[in-house]
Amino acid sequence: MTQDEARWKAVCDRDVAQNGVFIYAVKTTGIFCLPSCSSRQAKRENVDFYETVRQAQKAGFRACKRCLPDQFGTSPQVDVIRTACEDLQNLETPPDLETLAQTAGLSPAHFQKVFKKIVGLSPKRYAMAVRKQRLLRDLNLSDSVTNAIYDAGYSSSSRAYADMGTQGLSPKNRQSGGRGEVVRFATAKSDLGEIVVGATERGICLVEFSTKGEQLLKTHFPLAELKPADADLAGEVVEIVSQINQPRAGLSLPLDIQGTAFQERVWQALQDIPLGKTVSYAQLATAIGQPTAARAVASACAKNSLAVVVPCHRVVRGTGELSGYKWGVDRKQALLNLESKVKKTNK
Ligand SMILES: [Zn+2]
Repeated sequence: MTQDEARWKAVCDRDVAQNGVFIYAVKTTGIFCLPSCSSRQAKRENVDFYETVRQAQKAGFRACKRCLPDQFGTSPQVDVIRTACEDLQNLETPPDLETLAQTAGLSPAHFQKVFKKIVGLSPKRYAMAVRKQRLLRDLNLSDSVTNAIYDAGYSSSSRAYADMGTQGLSPKNRQSGGRGEVVRFATAKSDLGEIVVGATERGICLVEFSTKGEQLLKTHFPLAELKPADADLAGEVVEIVSQINQPRAGLSLPLDIQGTAFQERVWQALQDIPLGKTVSYAQLATAIGQPTAARAVASACAKNSLAVVVPCHRVVRGTGELSGYKWGVDRKQALLNLESKVKKTNK
């Protein structure tokens, strides 16, 4: 096995023992990671290996916000939190707060605070995001939804349903208008107009260009309890606005996407289109393994209610024409112009 082959195997195995030995960078996202990073598995042809953080940065890559490769070994606190993240990602039964704090040698309250400061999410929300990601990954691979649920580390399917709403399984929850859900919301100004952002405790559930504010949330989630933004959401709104004003690769926010299984596959595929690239509806249909479903794909794109975060603006007609955009073709053009500039300056 060559060195690169061995390194690639370590990445596939998320080998914790290789952290600090090398880092890998993903050309399509512009991000570099520790071998153990839990982020989505990249394709081999898009991965480069580097010995040091400095080399990766020099080559134009940015440090992953999840595994913090640029902070590896720099602070005992960061290392302790990284271990906690790995446990949450890798253990069959994710440990509870008490256990995590004990392993870290901190009190639960202090651990919670440090975790939040370093990771940007509370341990609970982080664990939810990990589980949700696993389930989504497994749903794509498993022929049986039940197997996928168990593979993702859920002890029962009812817990999976409770955790995820009905994501990937059926859109029942959302059709019921968000009954029993708390939806936090915020509005903000971007260069392309005012935005409204909504989030459940699982993640962001709505981003729209709109001046209607709270009223828009009421239309989407008439039965949910609406509350003003908390600190989590406020931070995420800042990231979304900066993504609109100055797009960059590697935006990674917890999302609470709910639609039919088909819609969710389309929305997932949209998130895989790299910044600065566009695809046609037919290409997107091929990407989800249903090459004849271009029309259904177009309709799923039109139902996206996570503007920019789920980049449906990167889909154009086969002829290269822009085609429609839920939030206005001018805005679509503006977003694509900004992104093509980023792509050029990165080169
Ligand atoms: Zn990473």
